Amino acid sequence: KLRYIDEFRDPEVARRLLSEIKKISRRPVRLMEVCGTHTMNIGRYGLRGLLPHHVQLISGPGCPVCVTTTKEIDMMIKLAEEDVTVATFGDLMRVPGSHTNLNHQRARGADIRVVYSSFDALGLALKNLKPVVFLGVGFETTAPTVAATIIEAKKRRVRNFSVFSAHKLIPPAMEALVSSPDLRIDGFICPGHVSVIIGLRPYKVLAERYKVPCVITGFEPLDILQGILMLIKQIEKGKAKAEIQYTRAVKEEGNWKAKEVMEEVFSPCDANWRGFGLIPQSGLCFKEEYKEFDVNSHFDIKVDEAKEPLSCRCGDVLKGKIIPPQCPLFAKVCRPANPIGPCMVSSEGSCAAYYKYRDWE
Ligand code: SF4
Repeated sequence: KLRYIDEFRDPEVARRLLSEIKKISRRPVRLMEVCGTHTMNIGRYGLRGLLPHHVQLISGPGCPVCVTTTKEIDMMIKLAEEDVTVATFGDLMRVPGSHTNLNHQRARGADIRVVYSSFDALGLALKNLKPVVFLGVGFETTAPTVAATIIEAKKRRVRNFSVFSAHKLIPPAMEALVSSPDLRIDGFICPGHVSVIIGLRPYKVLAERYKVPCVITGFEPLDILQGILMLIKQIEKGKAKAEIQYTRAVKEEGNWKAKEVMEEVFSPCDANWRGFGLIPQSGLCFKEEYKEFDVNSHFDIKVDEAKEPLSCRCGDVLKGKIIPPQCPLFAKVCRPANPIGPCMVSSEGSCAAYYKYRDWE
């Protein structure tokens, strides 16, 4: 028996939380989860179907692979045509660029390796004379490890290692969502992993400025239900605060050490997101002292204008404008075995989650 895990999956406690949600929830609400792991677990535990009809859960831009733009993917593919070793997380391999994907390029002979961490990529560079480029895709959860790898590379004077920084920051994307006039979001189920690093402060700013309740929530079913209950309590009382449900992992101040490491190497810069376009200060660029590890210091990667996958509505899914079954290709043409867009490829993608857990039936 998984003692500690089972405590967060107890059906009796789940029933109690659900009945409280049903009792206090009066008005229709749209709550957005901003983390792919939440999306997956909401599907896995069938939580959507257990909630009252007027409590709608919508997915947001919580999958780093999905928010990476087609142009960035094209640039990564183009880079793999050079005489380099490209190191990447597995999720990126099947994400479609304008014409092909990294997987196909590898089959054609490109030297592309799947690694489990940026340190593995640095290990490749230490064993190799060839340039090694790590594709840095991820949010605040991933960026500190990549930054630590770069600091280590500098310490060891590794000359053949660089990083393609496509990292993205979550709070600016949430701000873009709440300030968008055509979207209604009544509360955010804030990402657990990202918040371990960034803490509560960025959500306090968001809650105060946009009057939208934010609750940092864990990933077990009882965490998610309790997070939803906390949001509904705030909404029903007309409050908008930032709170932590996931207290066993998240501290109000976040992880200062990880933030320090990230800030040593990177500084925020404007970045393009799939479906959103340019979001100010939502990416991470190299600071001057670490520019030698920026892929752009070594390669001039030029690509044509990106061609988006035809009829793919991934951008609208990421903004919570539609749910995956509203995409005309969902489960007909687009399936995990034949993904048209990244939201069906990634293990954290909303379309993949809806498909896997039959959440539309
Ligand atoms: Fe794109 Fe496929 Fe999702 Fe439709 S179902 S939005 S085509 S990934």
